[in-house]
Amino acid sequence: MQQLPTFVRNSPRTRIVCTIGPATGNVVRARQLIRAGMSVARLNLSHGDSEQHFEYVEAIREAAHQTGVPIGILADLPGPKYRIGTVDPDQAVTQSGREGISVNARDKFVLTAERVYTTSERGTVWPSGLHNDIRPRARILIDEGAVELRVDRVDGVEIHCTVRRGGLIQSDKAVTAPGNTSTLDYFTDETIAALDFAIEADVDFVGLSYIRNRHDLRAVRDRLAAAGRTPALVAKIEIKQAVENLNEILDETDAIMVARGDLGVEMPLHLVPMIQKRMIRMANEVGKPVITATQMLESMRDNPYPTRAESTDVYNAVRDGTDAVMLSAETSVGDYPVAAVRFMARVSKLAERFLDNAMLGNRRMAIIEKEGRHAQINSIIAFDAARTADTLRSKAIITFTETGTTADRVAAFRPRTPIIALSPSEKALNNLSMRWGVIPLLTERLAELDQMFDYAAALAKEQGFAKDNDTVVLVAGVPIGKSGSTNLLRVITIGENEDGPAS
Ligand code: PEP
Repeated sequence: MQQLPTFVRNSPRTRIVCTIGPATGNVVRARQLIRAGMSVARLNLSHGDSEQHFEYVEAIREAAHQTGVPIGILADLPGPKYRIGTVDPDQAVTQSGREGISVNARDKFVLTAERVYTTSERGTVWPSGLHNDIRPRARILIDEGAVELRVDRVDGVEIHCTVRRGGLIQSDKAVTAPGNTSTLDYFTDETIAALDFAIEADVDFVGLSYIRNRHDLRAVRDRLAAAGRTPALVAKIEIKQAVENLNEILDETDAIMVARGDLGVEMPLHLVPMIQKRMIRMANEVGKPVITATQMLESMRDNPYPTRAESTDVYNAVRDGTDAVMLSAETSVGDYPVAAVRFMARVSKLAERFLDNAMLGNRRMAIIEKEGRHAQINSIIAFDAARTADTLRSKAIITFTETGTTADRVAAFRPRTPIIALSPSEKALNNLSMRWGVIPLLTERLAELDQMFDYAAALAKEQGFAKDNDTVVLVAGVPIGKSGSTNLLRVITIGENEDGPAS
């Protein structure tokens, strides 16, 4: 039986997603992040090249192997996002160490679908298509508002604008038109290349940037399936249309991300906290994981401590019911990546002590009436397992799970009791790495029910969760080995044998 590392037992139940980049893309750093509390490593495929991404994947897998902890890999696709073309090197200036083209308020500026160098008068917007999405008087932001334009008129593939806020235009920065949905095909060239990488690297999660509706999700899922891959899909909610289509997106996706970076540009910023809380609640109700992302500990990019507001932000997201919290620049390029994860783990653990587990469980339970009969049976057994364990003050809920779904179902009810997911499948365990409260552990495949009961009792004792006379709750699906059902619940008293309970 594999011994669970002590730091895993001390990790928060909230999952920590770390974006990997130059600051952390090696085995030593990845190992430190895992020990500090990382459970999912994220690659942002909008940055860097595939050779570098393959190196990161290798480092993460090696670090997971060395620490004995299943770590999920999430690869974020760029999606249908517009960007400004390369700046003209002859016109580029350097301001605060950044190179770009300087434009001033009231200047005229043309965005064009034609390939040109970006100068102080015109620049390419790519992929081609923004001219179809935009109307006169619309606002266009370059680099999240570093430069703001207002559309005067659209003439063929040219968008004639006036600069409203001057600043520096840098190559390849995002071009957004808040409230105007991109009509681009989801599969831009960049997205196809990123998807090919995700397929080849066989990642556990694929993040979909700029998702608009269920069709975008289906198209990506179909493309992955055609290549023989079935990673879980994470819909990044970052544009108005996605917020409006949240119900259908939640139906189709495996998880969602509150992608506050782009959301705060695409929507009025003061609405973001309200949308975040609504999204967390909706995801909790349907029992799908939700990641709260971006600028959670942003100041730790350059400082060893976060601000009070950042610390409070993490605490509140956990109390609201987020499954996971995410670090971006803090761990990809920051100076204090490990300290950031440690801090996140610390504040998350504290928030978990005050979590209203019963309320969150009931919230999920309240909507299962709308599910079909088979799903209802699965959910009720999972709910009862959570409730029984918490009421009995059991030491662990042990789930035997082929694909991870039984552990998933139980975790959605947020029991106070630790959940241990035993599976013979490394893939299933990696998939559970995003799920609140689950401790994934690789095990052999057991063929008999009695074997399972004995194994669960021995495991709880040997791993230090329980001692004689303590109870553990076992949940599984029978027939054993057939995935999809959660239909067995048993309370085991440790030390109990055929002659009766341990004395
Ligand atoms: C975000 O916008 O908050 C986000 C997570 O996406 P990206 O890192 O791709 O900007």
